[in-house]
Amino acid sequence: MESPGDQLRKRLAKIFGNRGLTLIELMIVLAIIAILIAIAVPNIVDYISDANRTACITNQSNLEVEIARYKSTHPGARIGPAGARLSDPNAHPNAQELMANSANPENIRRMLTCPEAGEDGSAPGYHYAYSNDQGHIECAMDNAGLVRAEEADFNHDRFNVAEE
Ligand SMILES: [Zn+2]
Repeated sequence: MESPGDQLRKRLAKIFGNRGLTLIELMIVLAIIAILIAIAVPNIVDYISDANRTACITNQSNLEVEIARYKSTHPGARIGPAGARLSDPNAHPNAQELMANSANPENIRRMLTCPEAGEDGSAPGYHYAYSNDQGHIECAMDNAGLVRAEEADFNHDRFNVAEE
């Protein structure tokens, strides 16, 4: 009775003979695999970075909607100041105020985290800041120096994105 291993060995021997692969053949196979990886990896990196950028801009838009909602329920509230992170208690409305003003604080907490920062996200509001006193929001990931080196020209700031 032949084991499946023996059957496979016989079939491979029929195709390749009993000699196995030469060193040159093995190197060619490895080179082809290396070329395929070299093609695939940058595409995957680009894909992830595009998806993060889109999600980041969506966060910015959603936060601006929430800030507009806050303005409408707090007439005369001062917005900003420019450069202040939403995590900063001196910013208005800040992350805590936006969450307190919302029926769904968990939703707000999620949109306060730039996807480029990864899933952990830690401090709410850490990644977004006021670009001016009109309630426009930009991503502070570049300022935090957390953007990957190969994306040095990749600014999450929506104005730069629009220029491309
Ligand atoms: Zn971002």
